[in-house]
Amino acid sequence: MKVAVLGLGIMGSGMARQLVEKRFDVTVWNRDVAKTAALATLGARVARTPAQAAAGADMVIAMLANDEASRSVWLADQGALAAMGKDAVAIESSTLTVDWIRELAAAAKHRDIAFLDAPVTGSKAQAETGALSFLVGGPADLLERVRPALAAMGKSITHLGPTGSGALMKLINNFLCGVQVASLAEAMAMAERSGLDSHQAAAVLSGGSPGSPLVKMIAQRMLDRAYEPNFFIPLMAKDLSYARQTFARAGIELPSADAARARFIDAERAGMGQKDIAAIVELLRRGGQ
Ligand code: NAP
Repeated sequence: MKVAVLGLGIMGSGMARQLVEKRFDVTVWNRDVAKTAALATLGARVARTPAQAAAGADMVIAMLANDEASRSVWLADQGALAAMGKDAVAIESSTLTVDWIRELAAAAKHRDIAFLDAPVTGSKAQAETGALSFLVGGPADLLERVRPALAAMGKSITHLGPTGSGALMKLINNFLCGVQVASLAEAMAMAERSGLDSHQAAAVLSGGSPGSPLVKMIAQRMLDRAYEPNFFIPLMAKDLSYARQTFARAGIELPSADAARARFIDAERAGMGQKDIAAIVELLRRGGQ
């Protein structure tokens, strides 16, 4: 299967590497061409534009920052959709709004191109080891056509329903993740500022009822002050804002997401935009409100 991968950030680079290692015929494109070098060394072809990457591919998968990036990569002059063959499948794996996913699916349909939304849970480590979990929206028979390629990148594939269902489930998932990370930062800062031992506090939180896999992992990063990025702070702010918009459509306000988002925005404004989400605890440690 010929696969084009559009976007080689933290996630897309690991995903493309898995496809190359599992002997798919891979062409990659990234806005910043420097990020294509490692994949080229492994044997991937490098395209100069999304259109060039998409031409002749059986499947085109995008892993991009946000709605704006996705719109330009699929629909701009040198965008992927216009260059795709009629038998090819377009897959959007970025975390995006459901509204944009529906618009993109309609643009694909207009060109007779099959489309799936397939965002992922799991982070850098799972992308690098082919252990992501795909949340898929779109026709079930279409999913079967691309299952081998998704299985090369993921350990689980869940079909949620029609177009947009994967994107919706991903926003619900990341709403809960963002709120947990923000509240954990507040909890850890409170323990430390009050003179409790931070390792003991983290052990209590991680070992007890609040100890989700995410809380365990992020608490350890906060203790170690290990902020090399697995998930950039601005992307979590984006996910919470997309979740807020999406929930509002269903009549559910999200004050908890707003409060959590403020923590990520504050950290970004304080110059931590290139750090991991765990770093938001630092502002609170320093005496932020
Ligand atoms: P990242 O490392 O910041 O990569 C972002 C990618 O988007 C890069 O390839 C970047 O290109 C590209 N991009 C940004 N703006 C663009 C534009 N205007 N036009 C074209 N390309 C543009 O982020 P990531 O962690 O890989 O995340 C990618 C997506 O997966 C996001 O939607 C994120 O929310 C989601 N996600 C992330 C994780 C995680 O743990 N990291 C987990 C699940 C889902 P340049 O290199 O040229 O800047």
